[in-house]
Amino acid sequence: MAISTEQIDSWIAGRIKEDEITKYTRDGKDFIREEEIEQKLESNQNPDSKKVKDILDKSLSVENLTPDEAAVLIHVTDPQLLELMKETALKVKKKVYDNRIVTFAPLYMGNYCVNNCAYCGFKSENADVKRKVLSKQEIIKEIEVLAGKIGHKRLVVVYGEHPRNDIDYIISSIKTIYDVKVKTKHGFGSIRRVNVNAPAFSINDLRKLREVGLGTYQVFQETYHHKTYACIHPEQTIKGNYRWRLYCMHRAFEAGIDDVGIGALFGFYDWKFEVMGLLYHALELEKRFGIGPHTISFPRLEPALNTSLNGFSRYRVSDKDFMKIILAVRLAIPFTGMIITARESAQIRREAISMGVTQTDASTKIGIGGYSENSGRQDKQKQQFILGDTRSLDEVIREFARMGCITSFCTAGYRCGRTGKRIMDLLRSGEEGKFCKFNAVLTFKEWLDDFASKETRIAAVPVLEKEIKEIKETLPEVFPRFKEYYARIENGERDIYI
Ligand code: SAM
Ligand code: SF4
Repeated sequence: MAISTEQIDSWIAGRIKEDEITKYTRDGKDFIREEEIEQKLESNQNPDSKKVKDILDKSLSVENLTPDEAAVLIHVTDPQLLELMKETALKVKKKVYDNRIVTFAPLYMGNYCVNNCAYCGFKSENADVKRKVLSKQEIIKEIEVLAGKIGHKRLVVVYGEHPRNDIDYIISSIKTIYDVKVKTKHGFGSIRRVNVNAPAFSINDLRKLREVGLGTYQVFQETYHHKTYACIHPEQTIKGNYRWRLYCMHRAFEAGIDDVGIGALFGFYDWKFEVMGLLYHALELEKRFGIGPHTISFPRLEPALNTSLNGFSRYRVSDKDFMKIILAVRLAIPFTGMIITARESAQIRREAISMGVTQTDASTKIGIGGYSENSGRQDKQKQQFILGDTRSLDEVIREFARMGCITSFCTAGYRCGRTGKRIMDLLRSGEEGKFCKFNAVLTFKEWLDDFASKETRIAAVPVLEKEIKEIKETLPEVFPRFKEYYARIENGERDIYI
């Protein structure tokens, strides 16, 4: 159905609710206090090793760091201290997440967009990109591949900002996804957790989103630096309003969504400033709502069709600095999940996981309708950017197993009400680990039986044996129940968890 320019203009005009920004600002200011951040970065340069070691000791007790402490770690360049940071980050990750990795697939649902972000292939003035919104039948076809052939249980669904893919479309598309069940070798496959990467919504729209049963609501600030933000997001667009975006997680909490994901797109401004911005954001959410972000994403800017950002090339993040970003975030905000995506190469993802990252995608296709088309090549005109790692889920899981990691397909958390403050408290007390370990083994077994290649099943044996032994030794009270559930999975029962 055609939508006139007038209709689009009037839709845009109704999006931003000023009172849903001003209710959160203080004295007309937001919580990204740039001068303060710059001052902290300035005054914590060249840290001495005693100071760094004291901060790392604090990190080991799995507490948030202060902005000053984070600024110290950000400036470490000494190779020995960096090595110590690496070891500590891994210990912190192990304490909170053990050796579990979560995998997901992104699913691009609609790439119509009224915004004109300078870096994105979906920007409104890019006439060469093929625009599409998936129909119900097309969504079902995508899920049949994702859940029925590859074996994904978690998705992040991605939408541009446009009346064609507005909140009502988003709600109905998520319902469609949850409804698909596909027969597999021994049971059935389905998507059990839909995370949403979508525009910054109003409280009203966010209430609708909560009702459909989403996993995490993700919105990245892109850059926390106000002036830089203004350079890449034209003022007259919705996304051009820095504070509308900055406060969208505040609105999410107010709408009852307590599982949120923040992020920055690295490459527009000094990475050190952006890490501080992420920390300020996390601390602000904890202070106001008692819960920090469930996940943090830190993508690096990738080339995209008809975009040119040469002016920002001095802020391009090197691989070395990228690892520092990961270390600083893991150490400063220990409870947060950290996501690395297939934008990065296999080698970088491997290193990132050994330093603190907890979630990653695999078998990724970011062209709209890409999973069912399965062309095996990347299509510039349909994609937002070009991927660095196109390995299959089976290959990625095999590699994790060889690294001693278990891939968890557990999606019990939000379905049992273990989200927000409850999950944070459980993580802090170490209790969540019990549920996670138990469910990780069950869901991993489920996936292996239905989808793994012979090679991957062989690689998984030592990991499974080790996990089962640990459950027996450390959780003797749940072991009989675990054994019963495990046998039921072997007999083809699916989606059982505690
Ligand atoms: N339209 C929504 C928005 O802008 O928040 C959600 C979808 S948008 C496609 C999802 C994310 O893709 C953005 O938040 C941005 O961080 C990332 N992105 C856009 N262009 C990119 C590029 N060239 N390289 C890497 N990431 C990019
Ligand atoms: Fe649209 Fe999001 Fe791309 Fe900006 S980043 S042009 S809002 S899809």
